[in-house]
Parts: sequence; C-alpha cells; structure tokens
Amino acid sequence: MRFHQSETAFFVFITVVLAAGVVTVHAYGALQIFNGSLDHSERMAHIDYLSKLLFTTGVLLATALFFGVFFIYPLLRTQVKEEDKLRAMAASLSARSETLEHAALTDGLTGMQNRRYFDDALKEYLQEFRRIDKPVGLMILDLDHFKQVNDTHGHDMGDEVLRAVASCLKDMTRYHDVVARLGGEEFAVVAPNMDGDMLIKLAERIRRGIAATTVLSGNVRLKITASVGLAVWDKRESAEEFFRRADKHLYHAKKQGRNRVCA
Ligand code: GH3
Ligand code: MG
Ligand code: MG
Repeated sequence: MRFHQSETAFFVFITVVLAAGVVTVHAYGALQIFNGSLDHSERMAHIDYLSKLLFTTGVLLATALFFGVFFIYPLLRTQVKEEDKLRAMAASLSARSETLEHAALTDGLTGMQNRRYFDDALKEYLQEFRRIDKPVGLMILDLDHFKQVNDTHGHDMGDEVLRAVASCLKDMTRYHDVVARLGGEEFAVVAPNMDGDMLIKLAERIRRGIAATTVLSGNVRLKITASVGLAVWDKRESAEEFFRRADKHLYHAKKQGRNRVCA
C-alpha cells in the first residue's frame, strides 16, 4: 500500500506528538519518585534527568510545530488550490458539453432546431401519441424558386430570407410544436394534437404569412413564397413513412404551381 505525501506527513506529525506525550508521561512518573525521600545528590541527579526529559518534550513539540507549519499546511493549501482548479475545470467542461449539445441540435443560420433534432423529436412524439391516441400533424415547407433569390440578390440576401422565414414560422406556431430547418430552404413543423382541418388552416396561415413577408435589399423589397406538404399521422406508419407521405404532398404542391398547400 502506497501512502500519499500528505498521509505520510500526518503520520510523522502524530508520531512526534505521541513521542512528546510518552516523554511527558515518563517525566510525570519521575516526578512522583522525586516526591519520595531522596538525599541531596539523588535529588540533583533527578532534577538533571527531569530537565533533560522536559527539554526532549520541548524539542519534540517544536519539531511537530515546525513540521505542521512548514510541511503539512503548505500541502493542505496546495490540495485546496488543486481541488478548486479541478472544480472550475469540471464546471467549464460541463458548460462546454452543454454548448456542444446545443450546437449539435441547432441550425447555425436561423437558430431553430436542425434536422437531427427534428428526426428524434418526430419519433418521440409518435411514440407518445400512440400511447395517448391523439393526432399528430406534419408540415414540410420548401421555399419557391429560392435559387433565383441567391442568383439575383446574392447568397447573403438568401440567408436573410431564410432567417425571415424562420422567424415567421416561430411566430406562427405554438410552444410545443417542433419547428426545424431540415436543410437548405426546407423547413418542417410537427404539430401535435392537430387533425387534418386544423393542420390545413395552420398551413394556410403560415403560407400567407411567408408570402406577406418582405425582406429589404437596398431599395428592393424582396418577396418569397413557399409550397407546403401536409400529412396527419395514421397511427400505424413509421416516422420515415409519415415524413415521406408529407414530402409527396409537398412535391404535388410544387407540381401544381407552387405557393400552395397540398394535403
Ligand atoms: P423549387 O421552387 O423547385 O424549390 O426551386 P428552388 O430554387 O427553391 O430549389 P433548388 O433546390 O433548385 O435550389 C435551392 C437553393 O437553395 C440552392 C441553394 O443554393 C440554396 N441554399 C441552400 N442552402 C442555403 C443557405 O444556407 N443559404 C442560402 N443563401 N442559400 C441556400
Ligand atoms: Mg428544396
Ligand atoms: Mg425550393
């Protein structure tokens, strides 16, 4: 068994104090004999012996004090400082891992949830809603002719449009809806507790909201529209099948001329 430096220091300290104690007890015993009947020369020898014992006790206690002040205390200080440093490091690591987790699930451009978050959230919602037997609506939106926005007004302007659409989506959805940017100019909304009629109404409101949004580029007022595909979960299909169904409706919306909702 290996002892830590501070443990060894503690044992040495205790041993020295213990030795001082033993010498003190021994001196006390000698003092008792001193009280007995001794002649003058015996008394002088005894006093000499007692003073040696007292001196030894003093040396031992001074050693313990020296050891405590110059060795044990600095060791303790170092350990406290190391512990503080470790605690600060642990706190910064856990803050970093939270930031990383947040970054891994957030879209950098719009600040909304990303595809990874959306995939997990959709699966979780379906699992939960299978249990409570309530509808779940899904909406996939794709901006119309977005490539033209980039080509005509530049990529930065395209980014501005994406942020404006994201903000519009956040404003028009409820707290427990999952609103995500799936990638490029494609967004999705998972709307729990929504049947077909409610979902179409919400999708129409959002489509009109996006169409009414204006993004300013110099003195150009830029308008954008979106096509929307909808599906209400049939309670049997998997998340992937559910998504594919909504995506098929989005494809029809594009085919039928864009800026429309298809269910
Ligand atoms: P459609 O109506 O058929 O959807 O046509 P579209 O032009 O919107 O679709 P397409 O898939 O041809 O083009 C999508 C464009 O989106 C191409 C790409 O440059 C742009 N895009 C993807 N991600 C970003 C982004 O993060 N920022 C910007 N500014 N543009 C992006
Ligand atoms: Mg697209
Ligand atoms: Mg598009």
